Amino acid sequence: MPCEDVADLGGMIFVEGAFRPGAGPRVAVENPATGEVIGHIAASTAEEIEAAVAAARRAFHPWAGLPARRRAEVLHRLGDLIGADADAMARIMTLEQGKPVNEARGEILKLAEACHFYAEEAVRVHGEIVPNDQPGFQSLVVREPIGVVGAITPWNYPAELVGWKLCGALAAGCTIVIKPAELTPFTALAIAAKVAAAGIPAGVVNVLTGKGSVVGQALVEHPGVDKIAFTGSSAVGLHIQQSCPQVKRLSLELGGNCPMIVTAAADLDAAVKGAARRSFRNMGQICIAINRIYVARPVYDAFLEGFARAAGALTIGNGLERPDADLGAMASAEPLAKTREHLSDALDKGARLVAGGAAPQGAEFASGHFFRPTIVADCRQDMLVMSQETFGPLVGVAPFDTLDEAIALANDTPYGLAAYAYTRDLGEVQRLSAHLDYGNVALNSVDAGIMNAPYGGRKQSGVGYEHGREGMLEYFNFKHVRLFHGEV
Ligand code: NAP
Ligand code: MG
Repeated sequence: MPCEDVADLGGMIFVEGAFRPGAGPRVAVENPATGEVIGHIAASTAEEIEAAVAAARRAFHPWAGLPARRRAEVLHRLGDLIGADADAMARIMTLEQGKPVNEARGEILKLAEACHFYAEEAVRVHGEIVPNDQPGFQSLVVREPIGVVGAITPWNYPAELVGWKLCGALAAGCTIVIKPAELTPFTALAIAAKVAAAGIPAGVVNVLTGKGSVVGQALVEHPGVDKIAFTGSSAVGLHIQQSCPQVKRLSLELGGNCPMIVTAAADLDAAVKGAARRSFRNMGQICIAINRIYVARPVYDAFLEGFARAAGALTIGNGLERPDADLGAMASAEPLAKTREHLSDALDKGARLVAGGAAPQGAEFASGHFFRPTIVADCRQDMLVMSQETFGPLVGVAPFDTLDEAIALANDTPYGLAAYAYTRDLGEVQRLSAHLDYGNVALNSVDAGIMNAPYGGRKQSGVGYEHGREGMLEYFNFKHVRLFHGEV
């Protein structure tokens, strides 16, 4: 079966190396730019969940036992196949998620990059010989793959957030059962089609569609799943941690409430450009989106003026018809409703609207989930836009007087995912990088993540890392082998 587009993938699950029609009830998937139903997925049944976990368990030892070079070869092949089909895969993503096709293509290409990166890492897994505390002994620390991974992913980056788990796990020698978000299942199924074409052995990768609270929860509770790799909201992450009935390895990439600081020593043009990009890209539906901005009082008005202009210049469109638009539809009604709620809370509490504030007008936007990039100024910390993750195209701005005050405001949150700052003052650079209590700090740039550095949150933003060597270490157990040989 070719499984090249949504029509082929509808109703399918991917178990033991093959697509099969799911037995469960069908669930509609919508195009968020038009409200049209693009296809249906099957709600996986208890038997299908059992079958997928059993297939992953059977595949684990043979896969883990392959020479690393073999695992690397198929991961490279997977990256090549995904890269070669980026256009078609991007269209599937846009259809279900709403982001413009050019941006979706960029995400698919980054997924391909992740395949190649972890293929390269796979052959560089080594252990250590550590000094012993007595003569006649030798201590080896070796790395062994954990086993079967349950991967549960959200809808904002439907390819990359599946891919980081898939590639890290496979490179380490684990097998995986993936439960993608209900809103964006087809991208994950399209990845499964490439897994099959790449010749990855049956059972190593499985994809189950259906509701998180049923299928995701079943993976969390399944004694045959050795680790859960989850990306999503802090509330569901905490629920997973609390509802796990066995001791189980967890990595949780959760919500953020990311601050940006612009000091009087900033390159203001660069700060404005960065703020516009990282506040609104993907309609603000990014865990590392800028949620709130603190600006030094002497440059406050100038920053706001430039930022409002930059936000107003961003183009919005149906992502399929306008592949090069800056922004597409939001993924569903839910994040749009939260954006509106945070906006009216801010305005009710005295914030000043300086850009956006409503949906764009016109027939093109009439039945989709659209909103204009929105900026509110003179915000206080007790407004929802400052204290909670909005996950939409809304950002709050407030002035500050001292850098210590700005850092304290930035850290005044239960979250700790990413923080941004613009300054050309070396002392300020040092203080910001030392005192911002975040897993990712980007200075004079808003691109916090690169493939070969660890990416992860602290506090309520999660535990564990993706990207980089650290992202693969999440899929290993360490074993200490202590040998007495008697030689001195
Ligand atoms: P979500 O509601 O937490 O859902 C994430 C995934 O968990 C979905 O696949 C969902 O399935 C599933 N799920 C829901 N309930 C579950 C349960 N009881 N047991 C197991 N799985 C369950 O998050 P979202 O609304 O999709 O995504 C937005 C959130 O993700 C934001 O808070 C954002 O910050 C966070 N995020 C974090 C990162 C990061 O790297 N830290 C990256 C991207 C997004 P269904 O879709 O079927 O309900
Ligand atoms: Mg949700």
